[in-house]
Amino acid sequence: MANQNLTGTALLQNGVFSKGTAYTEEERSALKLKGLLPPVPATLDMQVEAMMEQLRTFDTPFQKALFLDGLRAANETLYFRLVLDHVEEVQPLVYTPTVGEFCQKFSHLFRFPRGLFISIEDKGHIAEILDNAPQEEVDMIVVTDGQRILGLGDLGVNGMGIPVGKLALYTACAGVDPRRTLPVTLDVGTNTERYLNDPLYLGHRHPRVTGQAYDDFIEEFFQAVHKKWPKCVVQFEDFGNNHAFDLLARYRTRYSCYNDDIQGTASIVVSGFYSAVRAKKSKLSDEKILFLGAGEAATGVANLIADAMVEEGTDRDAALGKLYLFDSHGLVTKGREGLAVHKVPFAKDLEPCTSFEECIRRLRPTAIVGLSAQGGAFTESVVKTMTEINERPIIFALSNPTSKAECTAEQAYTWSDGKALFSCGSPFAPVTYKGKTYVPRQGNNSYVFPGIGLGAILSQCKEITQEVFLSAAHTCANMVTEEDLAQGSLYPSLTRVREISREVAANIIELALRTGQAQIERPADIRQYVTDHMYNPGY
Ligand code: NAD
Repeated sequence: MANQNLTGTALLQNGVFSKGTAYTEEERSALKLKGLLPPVPATLDMQVEAMMEQLRTFDTPFQKALFLDGLRAANETLYFRLVLDHVEEVQPLVYTPTVGEFCQKFSHLFRFPRGLFISIEDKGHIAEILDNAPQEEVDMIVVTDGQRILGLGDLGVNGMGIPVGKLALYTACAGVDPRRTLPVTLDVGTNTERYLNDPLYLGHRHPRVTGQAYDDFIEEFFQAVHKKWPKCVVQFEDFGNNHAFDLLARYRTRYSCYNDDIQGTASIVVSGFYSAVRAKKSKLSDEKILFLGAGEAATGVANLIADAMVEEGTDRDAALGKLYLFDSHGLVTKGREGLAVHKVPFAKDLEPCTSFEECIRRLRPTAIVGLSAQGGAFTESVVKTMTEINERPIIFALSNPTSKAECTAEQAYTWSDGKALFSCGSPFAPVTYKGKTYVPRQGNNSYVFPGIGLGAILSQCKEITQEVFLSAAHTCANMVTEEDLAQGSLYPSLTRVREISREVAANIIELALRTGQAQIERPADIRQYVTDHMYNPGY
C-alpha cells in the first residue's frame, strides 16, 4: 500500500504510515514535518523502549489494553514492533484474556474504526460495503457474528475486538502483513438484554436473526468476498455452536476457510498428544481418550485425533472407538435422544453414566481432556484414579479462563505424584514438587493458527483440509526439545513463535503443493519464500 503522498499533519495523523518521532532530518524537510515534532529524531528501538516504560505504569491489564489500542491508532509499525519484541508480556493484553473485557465495553470505548461492520440490514449491498474497506488487497479476513465471544456469550457487535485482536496475533506471531488483513463483524442482532437496553450499544437492537435469512446473508458475504478477493482466506471466529459446525461444513470445500475454535484448537491439542506419547514412548493410536465437554473444541479435537490415528494406520472405526465424550448430560451414548450431529460419530453403545469419575473407572482411559469450562471438574479423586490406572496419565485441563480450568498445574502434578503429562488452556507458573520443577505450557492456539494462516495465504491454497491441521500439529510437536520434555513441557517456548510459525507455514505450503491445493509455482526454496514474505515491522 503506497503512502498516498501524505505530508505534514496528514501524514503524522495516519497511523498506518506515520513513523512518529522517528523521521530523520532529511525526511522532516522533504515531508513538511519540520516543527511538528520534538527536534531530536528517535529510533524505533527508542520508541519501543519508551512505550514499554509507559505500558508498565498502568495498574490493570485493561488499562494497558486501552493504551495499546491508542498506540496502534497512532503508529501501527511501532505497535507491531512492540508486540513482536515483547510477545509474552503483550499477547495477553491484545488477545485473551484481556480482550474479553475490552469487548464487553466495546461500544462504550469505541474510538478508532478498524475493519468492517456488515449488518443484516445491509443485505443485498455487501459488495458495496467491501468496496469501502480501508485496503485494496486483502489476503485474510477474520469474521465473527459475535454470538459466542470467548466464554462470555453473545456480545453482538461488541465482538469486534476479537477479529481485530486475532489478526494482530497473525501479524505478530507469523508476520501476516497487517495492511492486507481485514477484521469483519457481522451484525445480525443480539439476544443479550443488557445490550438491547444499553443506550450506548452500537449494534442494531433486535434479537438475532437466524434460519434462512441468516444463511442467505452469510452466503452473500462469502460470494462477495470471493468475487472481490478470490484468494482471500476466511477464518471463522467465535460463532455459536448452532452455526459454527454448519458453516464450516458448507464452506470448507468451496472456499479457503477454517474455524480456529474447532480446527485450530484441534491442531494444538493433537500436537500436545504427540509430545505426550513421545514422553511415554507410545503412539497416539495406543491411547484411549475421555473428553469432558463435547462442544466445538472437544469434538474438533476428537475428529482430528481420529484423523491422526488413521494417519498412523488405524482403521477409522477403531479410532473413533477409542474416543469418548462426556457432556453436561453425562457420557455420550447411542441411546440418547436428540443427539447433536457433531457428537454422533463418538456416541457409544454403552449404558448411560452421569459421573465422570465413574466413567473413568469403567472405561479406564489413558487420557482425559477438559474442554468443558467447568472449573475444578478434575478433582483430586479424578486425578488419583487416572494415576492408579496409568503409569503416566495424560491430563489436559484446557478450559479458559483460569477460573474455568478443570484443575491447576499444581493439582495435576501433586495429585498424580509428579506422573501427569499435563497441559493447560490458561497460563500456570512452574510447579516444584518433591524437588523437581515442572514447567506446564499452554495448549495455546497461537502456536499454530498464525502459521496456518500464513501458509494458506502464501500457497494460495484452494481448500484448507484436515491434513493442514495435522501438519501443523506435527510441526509444533517436532519443535519440542528433549529439555522441554524433561521439565514436563509438551509445547515449545512461546518465545519461539515466529520460528514455529515459519516452519508451520513452510510445511503447509509443501503439503499444498504436493496435494494440488496450491495455486502458486513451487518456490525454489520454500523456507526462504516464507521468510521473504513475513512482515517485519520497521521503518
Ligand atoms: P462449547 O460451549 O462449544 O462446549 C462446552 C461443552 O462443555 C458442551 O459440550 C457442554 O455440554 C459441556 N459441559 C457443560 N457443562 C458440563 C458439565 N458440567 N460436565 C460436562 N460437560 C459439560 O465451548 P468450546 O468452544 O468447546 O470451549 C470449551 C472450553 O474450552 C472453554 O473454556 C474454552 O475457553 C476452552 N478452549 C480452550 C482452547 C485452548 O486451550 N487452546 C481452545 C478452545 C476452547
